[in-house]
Amino acid sequence: MGVLTNVVVNIVALPEKDDVYGVFFPSWERTIHAMQTITGTDISFSMIRLSNHAETMTNLALAGNQQQTALLMRYLRLRGISEKKACMGLVGFTGSRRSTAAARRAAFSIIRRYKGISVGKPMGNAWKKSLNYTVVRRIDRDDDSHVVGVELEDVETHEIKNVSSPAVINATGSWAERLHPSPDPQRHLRPLRGSHLVFTAAAIPLNEGFCFMHRLDNRPVFVIPWEGAMLVGTTDLDHPQDLSIEPNIAEAEVNYLMEGIQAIFPSLNISLADCLCAFAGIRPVLSEGKLKPSDESREHVVWVDHGLVTVTGGKLTTFRRLAVDALKATKPFLPPGKLADHKALVFCKVQKLPALEYGLPPEHGAVSMVATAVRPIPSLRQPKPRILQPLMVPIHCGPNCPMWRIMILCEN
Ligand SMILES: Cc1cc2nc3c(=O)[nH]c(=O)nc-3n(C[C@H](O)[C@H](O)[C@H](O)COP(=O)(O)OP(=O)(O)OC[C@H]3O[C@@H](n4cnc5c(N)ncnc54)[C@H](O)[C@@H]3O)c2cc1C
Repeated sequence: MGVLTNVVVNIVALPEKDDVYGVFFPSWERTIHAMQTITGTDISFSMIRLSNHAETMTNLALAGNQQQTALLMRYLRLRGISEKKACMGLVGFTGSRRSTAAARRAAFSIIRRYKGISVGKPMGNAWKKSLNYTVVRRIDRDDDSHVVGVELEDVETHEIKNVSSPAVINATGSWAERLHPSPDPQRHLRPLRGSHLVFTAAAIPLNEGFCFMHRLDNRPVFVIPWEGAMLVGTTDLDHPQDLSIEPNIAEAEVNYLMEGIQAIFPSLNISLADCLCAFAGIRPVLSEGKLKPSDESREHVVWVDHGLVTVTGGKLTTFRRLAVDALKATKPFLPPGKLADHKALVFCKVQKLPALEYGLPPEHGAVSMVATAVRPIPSLRQPKPRILQPLMVPIHCGPNCPMWRIMILCEN
């Protein structure tokens, strides 16, 4: 057995301040511009998060304090921010008292320039409780195998915490089997990667999204105006790589998407130099491993094991059904109570917002996702000026596919 004779301890001072402030803006455009301006300066902020109007209202509804929300809305109205357009942002500052005060002053002067107002720290404090960058490492059980909680790890500090609960809903997508192996030995999660390329709007100048069937495999590929750029995807193929590593587009996928888009727009001379970035995601698909990726069912499952309820598979569009099934399966492990009306509206009604010049209407905004998920590939080429005439052609694109409207742009 070895004996430790020397230990080196690195001591890092805890930041004096670690504050997150809530801010509100009168419109989505002002929210984006203010946050873009802050990120373009040397202001030292620790985090920025922005929500479009729909997400803002959803967050406030989920916070569950109607009285406080009503007071907040009254305050925003008094400060000239309409409740029909209000967008929320969160800005955080970490460090010494002096440096955070300086950063805060500089950031708030930009926020005020875009008619934003601060509502102080309560919203930031609520957000900090959300345990981001924390993973469930283990399901804790008692001697009878009943779930009693989870062991959590902060992936940044590696701090371990235990949280007790009579039931745990495991909604970890493709990772679900790490916490709950499939009870059906024939059926396991098959991680399927989907990747996109993002082009400049000038390279593919469309005002509307459309779908074409890729000539190599007859799969639908979407071309969608998105946040001022053009999204082309996706692919659908096995992802055998380690799921702990951020997925990336592979060269074969780049070639596949490029070939598809070049074949559909031969006259636009689209090249990789027009591509801004790429990103990939992993679909949780349940499989017996016999079918081609795109033929696999997108059904969801709910597995129950002594208080551990796993819900995986499915689609974004079936989120409500997944949630209701998971809650029903969890009910026996919880104290008596009533499930909320499962026919009630999930989201409050939102005003339809005007479309941006290029890109989806702001309610589709996913700016925070773009900021974290996209990875630059080749350098951005200068937009090519082109004169294009839209031509709407109705086509049938497959036996099970309804008629798609395809817009072909012809150069004059
Ligand atoms: C490219 C692509 C295109 C798609 N297109 C569509 C579409 O057009 N329409 C549609 O309806 N659906 C679409 N989907 C499918 C849809 O995205 C998924 O069905 C949906 O995201 C699944 O949601 P989920 O919450 O179950 O899992 P996920 O969205 O995968 O979320 C699981 C989360 O759990 C976290 N996690 C994992 N392990 C742990 C742990 N131990 N502790 C804590 N957290 C953990 C992960 O980090 C992740 O954030 C698409 C998917 C991809 C990849």
